[in-house]
Amino acid sequence: MYHVIEPAFLIDDLPGVGPKTKERLNSIHIVDANDVVFKIPNSYMSHIPVDLNSVEVEETVTAEGIVKTDPTVTYMRRGMNRLVFFMEANDIYFKVTFFNQPFLRDKIKVNETVKIFGKFNKLKQEMSAQKLIFNTNEKLEIRYALNKAMHNKTFKNLVKETFKKAQFKHDIPDILIEKYQLMPIKDALYLLHFPESFEDVNRARRTVKFYELFMYQVKIMEKRRQERVRDVETIVHYDIDQLKAFIQTLPFELTKDQKTSVNAICRDLLSDYSMHRLLQGDVGSGKTIVAGICVYAAKTARVQSALMVPTEVLANQHFESLSETFSGELNLALLTGSTTKKEKHEILNRLKSGDIDLIIGTHALIEDDVVFKNLGFIITDEQHRFGVNQREKLNNKARHKNVLYMTATPIPRTLSITTFGDMDVSIIKTMPAGRKPIETTWRRSNELDEVMSFIRSEHNRGHSIYVVAPLIEESETLDLITVNEIYELFMNEFGSQEVVLVHGQMKNDEKAQAMETFESLDKRILVSTTVIEVGINVPNATVMAIFNAERFGLSTLHQLRGRVGRSDKQSYCILISDPKTEQAAERMNIMTETTDGFILSERDLEMRGPGDFFGIRQSGLPEFKAADLAEDYRMLEIARDEAIQLFER
Ligand code: ADP
Ligand code: MG
Repeated sequence: MYHVIEPAFLIDDLPGVGPKTKERLNSIHIVDANDVVFKIPNSYMSHIPVDLNSVEVEETVTAEGIVKTDPTVTYMRRGMNRLVFFMEANDIYFKVTFFNQPFLRDKIKVNETVKIFGKFNKLKQEMSAQKLIFNTNEKLEIRYALNKAMHNKTFKNLVKETFKKAQFKHDIPDILIEKYQLMPIKDALYLLHFPESFEDVNRARRTVKFYELFMYQVKIMEKRRQERVRDVETIVHYDIDQLKAFIQTLPFELTKDQKTSVNAICRDLLSDYSMHRLLQGDVGSGKTIVAGICVYAAKTARVQSALMVPTEVLANQHFESLSETFSGELNLALLTGSTTKKEKHEILNRLKSGDIDLIIGTHALIEDDVVFKNLGFIITDEQHRFGVNQREKLNNKARHKNVLYMTATPIPRTLSITTFGDMDVSIIKTMPAGRKPIETTWRRSNELDEVMSFIRSEHNRGHSIYVVAPLIEESETLDLITVNEIYELFMNEFGSQEVVLVHGQMKNDEKAQAMETFESLDKRILVSTTVIEVGINVPNATVMAIFNAERFGLSTLHQLRGRVGRSDKQSYCILISDPKTEQAAERMNIMTETTDGFILSERDLEMRGPGDFFGIRQSGLPEFKAADLAEDYRMLEIARDEAIQLFER
């Protein structure tokens, strides 16, 4: 992507770069000329003096004034010394301190004018100085994050040499440069390394950001073009009348977004382009039903479908809920690690003969012995939890490559068009009718009594309750409540007949057994760590109480909250938290303000930055050098539109 110099050459070809320098630069990922010019400075210091009266409390600035006293140097302890003098600038008389620069003593003389860069504190009338500025014509001083691999100055010379030697390609199309008042990428990069003013830096930075976003989108469009093969083989000629009749038999009316999604997916099935679509929607928004309806459509064309999910619990759940709605209409089968040999043998035969319309399963589906008669519709749930290879392996079993990815993780649009930019996207925003929004409250830990009595009243009404606490190491406890302590608290209050504990360190079958007592309403209070994050469905539950809620990110809190509100009963989420940071308090507030997963995800992105958004850095998000996905949202949209237009031309 960062390929603006053609022909590219290695840093070895630059004057003064020997094996040692090469090694050091390589260690900070600078290998060739493109890396050099894209090593954008990480700070710019202005050497233009400011009026110190304009500083409010404390600011890092350049001050210009007259030296009033001779500098004195005091040695503090080994290797530490301090140079102090007084100066006057803008009618302010103040003390200047340099640390460990005793040699400046000879350069600072009473009654002479000096320029000093440092942190000026107006109230204390002093400056903690960083640099004595000699009169150069350099107006901005530049710092690179070089991790001690090289001095700033040396690197800057290297950049200069690179620009001398390099031939730049023309990258951003002229009409876009004109339309958005950008500049050629070469000029922009040059200005970032050798600016005259902050204005230069800002102008240049806009161009480089656009370049990055635009080139990335172009790359995505290329990928999309490769993936969306035009091939009559991908057409699934489903029977629209049968499909309509079937939808009529559903016990509920589809929501508007569900209808739109079904239409989009069915259009993909009928088109001679292969489907490559992402279906997004909160837990409970009705994605599975949408997928099921489209599976039914495929079945009317005698095309088989597969649904792959990341865990066995989820596979079971999908199998059960789909069996409920589609039994009699579709032949379903379940294939997981727990399927017995005998069952598996039978299932594989039925798959091969075309008897099974929809197979639901885990990774077990990608094994080589799973062979279909006519696979033409592939659905992957929470696709980001599978590796690309796993997905590919399943997709390659298909005769008609129509792929639908489903996710309950609301992904902000900025990230979605970056990570999933090569896909078409359908979004289900509205929940099925009859659902009441979950009421969320934030309580301090000293309000535990109220929390408990509220839980008791919900319990008395026959409802089920989730209680979640982060798993905490004993050594960490301090003022945090551990899951075991909470378990005891609830045992004392409700008795062992009503409370069940589940945590990540339990064995799988113990866990499953414990879950089962909660799912069957045998026990109606589940105390657990976040192991329940995926795959449990108890519509009877109306309370989600989360202890030490400040320890969770917004997306986890949102996922947890999604466990309740799955029926027409009013549900509640109680966050019990004494946040120590402003950010954590902010998260609590946001949670009480909205239940909209997309709004939450946008806020999450703002607060955490794109890198951390998915929790793990596995999402394949590009790390841009100038652009910031959380900030440069508008530009990203523009870059995307322009990339699309480029491809249409
Ligand atoms: P998701 O897969 O998005 O979590 P599901 O498709 O499993 O959601 O739907 C959640 C629940 O809501 C299921 O019990 C389903 O039968 C029900 N449901 C789905 N769509 C509707 C609708 N339009 N009206 C009423 N209930 C619905
Ligand atoms: Mg689901």
